[in-house]
Amino acid sequence: MKTLGKYSIGLGDRFGHQGAAQLKAIISASEKGVEITPVWNKSNREHITIGTQPADVRIEADTVTRDAGFKKSYFVDADHINLDTVGRFIESSDFFTIDVASYIGKKATDEEIKEFVGSVEKYEGELSIPGTKLSFKISKDQILQIAEKYLFAAIKAGDIYRNIEKTKGKGNFITEVSMDEVAQSQTPVELFFILKMLASLKIPVQTIAPKFSGRFNKGVDYVGDPKMFAKEFEQDLLIIDYAVREFDLPLNLKMSIHSGSDKFAIYPYIGSIIKKYDKGIHLKTAGTTWLEEVIGLAESGGEALDFVKGIYRGSYEKIDELCAPYADVIDIKIASLPSVKNVSEWNNTKFSASLKHIPGNPDYNPDMRQLIHVAYKLAALQMKDYFRLLESNEQTVSKCVYENIYKRHICRLFDIK
Ligand SMILES: [Zn+2]
Repeated sequence: MKTLGKYSIGLGDRFGHQGAAQLKAIISASEKGVEITPVWNKSNREHITIGTQPADVRIEADTVTRDAGFKKSYFVDADHINLDTVGRFIESSDFFTIDVASYIGKKATDEEIKEFVGSVEKYEGELSIPGTKLSFKISKDQILQIAEKYLFAAIKAGDIYRNIEKTKGKGNFITEVSMDEVAQSQTPVELFFILKMLASLKIPVQTIAPKFSGRFNKGVDYVGDPKMFAKEFEQDLLIIDYAVREFDLPLNLKMSIHSGSDKFAIYPYIGSIIKKYDKGIHLKTAGTTWLEEVIGLAESGGEALDFVKGIYRGSYEKIDELCAPYADVIDIKIASLPSVKNVSEWNNTKFSASLKHIPGNPDYNPDMRQLIHVAYKLAALQMKDYFRLLESNEQTVSKCVYENIYKRHICRLFDIK
């Protein structure tokens, strides 16, 4: 069976030019004794926006690993797929993030619900996790509510899983189930019963992406109380560990953090909690690489700087259209955005410092950063020029990509000095 390493990181590369720089960050971590499995992920939405195919991601991953002589495992993740979109990903992907968000809240049949509730009767009353101080009160009503809210979604996950398994064969791919793109976070008790549902449906889920409280806005830091997050994360981790012991689930099942890039405030907590319990983690960091391309082009100056100023102008003009698909995962204060006229007068240092995620730098502007994060469509509309500039400024751009993944993400999360 294909198994995902203990530590893995989702590397999105929207325009397919930075795979080598991203892999270099993985290799640097390995040289420091931290083995991380790279996973190149791209969602259907990103493919449609840019005009790429899932096969393009496979070609990129195979090429950059071969060129670097990278002999360890790596994966290509069909990110956030459902029954409607999974088809074209099946051949080239070996990691599938089954997104059940849109099915949550829809009800399974009465018989299905009854059967599930009957199968977990023994957890009614008090659920105490052995070896910890953690315990939860669980009523019959609560189990029924959880079944009504999540069982249909779990059944759909099973349908999608079997659809993939039919073609790829059992054990030939990694399965993730994601529930992060919803309004409400799941409680540890909900997570426990969701895992029971997935186990009963024989879905060999290796990573699960719950929704946490606080905001996970794209490309910027965590918004919320990091200590509260830590508590929630620790409880989820312990409940997953318990579920693995209780139900028929893969032993390496671990948490996946979506919109995980740039959440510097919570990395030390994630890092210390997974160390404390000797657990793994999957961190998705897709969009941060596109931002580094923009920063690298800005630093390059000249025509490249003019190009990214054009992206900013375009994004400012089309802000509503660009932000709409990402409403739950961005939070832009329009009044804090610099005017297009101001930006047109900026030099390369000022532009790149405004976007580069260095907390505490007075030039850093998280609102501008989020806007550019969702503006990759504008580069896709001028792909020829964009690729020409990426290629002629490759050194500067790939250095930005590498340093961002390695120094700002990996070193922080895994406490590498
Ligand atoms: Zn996600």
